[in-house]
Parts: sequence; structure tokens; C-alpha cells
Amino acid sequence: MEAIIIRLTSYKEKDYIVNAFTSEGQVTFRASGALNVKSQFAGKLFLYALVDIELKETKAGFSLVSIKNLNYIAKIFTDYQKIITLNLIGEIMIRTLKDDDSISEAFPLLKNTLLGLPNTSKLLSLSYLFITNLLRVIGLGFVIDRCVNCGVKDDIVGVSFYDGGLICKNCRNTDTMVLNEQQIKIIRYGFMINETQLFRHEFTDEELKDILKRFIVYLEETYNFKIVSSELIY
Ligand SMILES: [Zn+2]
Repeated sequence: MEAIIIRLTSYKEKDYIVNAFTSEGQVTFRASGALNVKSQFAGKLFLYALVDIELKETKAGFSLVSIKNLNYIAKIFTDYQKIITLNLIGEIMIRTLKDDDSISEAFPLLKNTLLGLPNTSKLLSLSYLFITNLLRVIGLGFVIDRCVNCGVKDDIVGVSFYDGGLICKNCRNTDTMVLNEQQIKIIRYGFMINETQLFRHEFTDEELKDILKRFIVYLEETYNFKIVSSELIY
């Protein structure tokens, strides 16, 4: 079973209690002896690692039988910016996905994001498209084909995070984030593609920076938390 590790808690002398996301929701299991350097699990349990696990059911709950890493975790851990991005993605998924249904629906996106992370240098692009796709999956996708307020298709000048969509020049107010043409395209693109297209087109850091910052603030305000790694990604 494929899983993404979201919490590791040491237990007794050498065990871990592991919480993970899977395509069916959240699962908790015990990794006996994982803190022992000679254990077959040693060095394979990392926060936010994508893994293939086999579990067995015991009287005390699920227990780990075998584990294999699915993403190239070594390639991430040798690159400081990739570690920061992994933490950003991890923090966001933990804070926004609370029930089995949403975890299950978002799992293909989480998996594709983690699998792609070692191989891209456009980390802001990946972070941004991860966030827009996550919002779409959890039902907070933005209105991008018309003004979210009045419905006209022309004269789009910005985006309203409060209303969740693009805004025309007549509806523009003090809450509107005014955008240039390229930024309007970027917002449209973010909510148009799906989780299989995260690398079809990658944006440069320069064109994305302001938009990504604003989306991170939006997530922080919507879910009432502070993303620790957000200041470090630029
Ligand atoms: Zn309007």
C-alpha cells in the first residue's frame, strides 16, 4: 500500500508510532524496532516520505511488516531548497486535509507532487500548482472564467481572495489584488490543470513570487495556522 508519512512519534525504547496518509484516508501503525540502527526499517521512515508499506493487523492495531521508499528522498535531502519545499507541502497537507474523504481525494495530487519534487528545479512553480490543485480538490477552487462578482468575461483586472475568483474593473475594490496580464494567466492556469499536469508548464520564480505569497497567506487565514517554512522558500 502506498502511503505518505505525516507523523513519527517515538514509542517505548525503539519503536515508532507512525501516522500516514493513504488513498483510503489516514492510517496509524507501529514500526517495531525502527529506532534501532540495525532494524530493516532504519533510515526509511522520514517525515513526508512517500513509501510502499505492508502492514499486518494485530490485537494492538496495525504493525509494519515491510517498507520501501518510492521517492528519491536522498535527492531531496541533499538540496536545501527542496527540503524547505517538502516541508511547505507537508505542512499544508497536514493542516488542510482533516478527514478520510479529503485525504483520499487529494492523495493522487500529494503523490504526484512528491514524486516530481526531486526532479524539478522550479520549486515555486510546483508549490503554487500544488496549492491551486489542492484548493480545487477540497472544493475551494477559484472562479477563473468570469468575474466572480458580476459574471462578465471581459476587463478582468485582478483577483479577490475573499470572493475566491477573478474580478473585473467595475467590481474592483480595496480587497482586490491587482494583476498584470501574465499573472491573470497564471491564476487561470493554476485552476485549469489537474494533478497529472503539474510539470506540463513550469513558471519562473520571478513571475510567481507575489501570487504564491498571497496564496500562502490565504491558506493561513482560511485554516488559521502559520506555515513555518513559508518565509524560506523564496
Ligand atoms: Zn465584475
